[in-house]
Amino acid sequence: MDLSNRVQSIPSSVTLQVTARIRELKAEGKDVIGFGAGEPNFTTPDVICQAAIASLEAGVTGYQAVPGTIPAREAIAEKLRVENNIECQASDIVISAGGKHAIYLVCQALLDPGRGQEVVLPTPAWVGYRPSIELSGGTVVEVPGSTDRDFKITPQQLDEAITDKTTMVIFNTPSNPCGTAYTPEEIRALAEVLAAHPEPMILSDEIYEKLLYGGFEHLSFGSIPEIADRVITINGLSKSFAMTGWRIGYTCAPGPVGGARGGLAKAMTRLQSQMNTCITSFTYAAIEAAMRDADADVATMCEAFAERAQVIYDQISRWPEVRCPKPTGAFYAFPDISAYFGRVSPGGKKIESAVDFASALLEETLVAVVPGEDFGEIARGHVRLSFATTVEQIIEGCQRVEKWLTKISSHSAVGSA
Ligand code: PLP
Repeated sequence: MDLSNRVQSIPSSVTLQVTARIRELKAEGKDVIGFGAGEPNFTTPDVICQAAIASLEAGVTGYQAVPGTIPAREAIAEKLRVENNIECQASDIVISAGGKHAIYLVCQALLDPGRGQEVVLPTPAWVGYRPSIELSGGTVVEVPGSTDRDFKITPQQLDEAITDKTTMVIFNTPSNPCGTAYTPEEIRALAEVLAAHPEPMILSDEIYEKLLYGGFEHLSFGSIPEIADRVITINGLSKSFAMTGWRIGYTCAPGPVGGARGGLAKAMTRLQSQMNTCITSFTYAAIEAAMRDADADVATMCEAFAERAQVIYDQISRWPEVRCPKPTGAFYAFPDISAYFGRVSPGGKKIESAVDFASALLEETLVAVVPGEDFGEIARGHVRLSFATTVEQIIEGCQRVEKWLTKISSHSAVGSA
């Protein structure tokens, strides 16, 4: 029996190689410092846990409405109206098993194989978009953001990337893996370009919206009237509320896609009804608690991330021959380490790529970072460090890297003299 072409087309992730090795080293009892985690190192705020426990104890254990309970969808719609200025109602919201499934449902609802549909994706970009697009039959058009501009694309680049084949444009601010965010002015300038191209849908992934530092403000594409009816806002509870394992994400699709108001939300609901029906019954109460009662907890976590963002930036700034934009959002730093390509590590490994760099670093210093290859062509010279770890670990890990890089740097200088 052959596996389907579809499943065979999914490439295995290069980061998995590194992740597997980290597991082995940890199992051997080695003191690995991990900068790989894409999840907060906090537990879920108690107020949210208690709401789920109360719901479970109250016997909410059966199937629920496919797009989510009305109270949970109302709580999300209210949050989006009040915090994000997105005009929407509960009927525009679909709750799914994580932002990842929400994005997959959007792609499945809008893309078909064989229609030549393109999706414009500013890169470096989160690794989850490409598989969802390609499994749905679309083609990714990467628009590279340069390190000098904090990885952000320009309105002109966006304008040039959109063609009559463009079905959707994706934005993710604050960004995984970049750790940077567009300012409201920059978002308005991109929206102006989008307004001039009335066909493509706009998927705005705002899953890190609450994790912003240094005075940055978040502006939702869905709040800009000229484009609002084409904006699909994706968000979820994984990152801001430290709830990665709960699997809760949501989509807000208020525009007149497909004719009737809420057409996309209904299409996604139909798909979801045949995939996993709904999310876990007693977590809907937790969504209401997160939307209404967890602001103080989120602020505390955000403060901790802001401090770590500064610490990791200060540490990376000491690394020789490495450039890294200052992290202003999410919990990632994404330094350019390409100056080390073509050189040899202190342990004798030739470094030709970010994967080589990450593997040699892990073997020789026990520091784990994620190589950039999976995040787009432009990201091949980068590695990602998640600062969802303690300040002590950040300092210790970064100092190990600094010593290791210094050895390569000075060795190469001698070798080339
Ligand atoms: N969007 C971005 C940018 C992410 O980084 C992630 C997770 O890493 C997701 C969406 C999906 O998150 P989840 O499925 O946990 O809600």
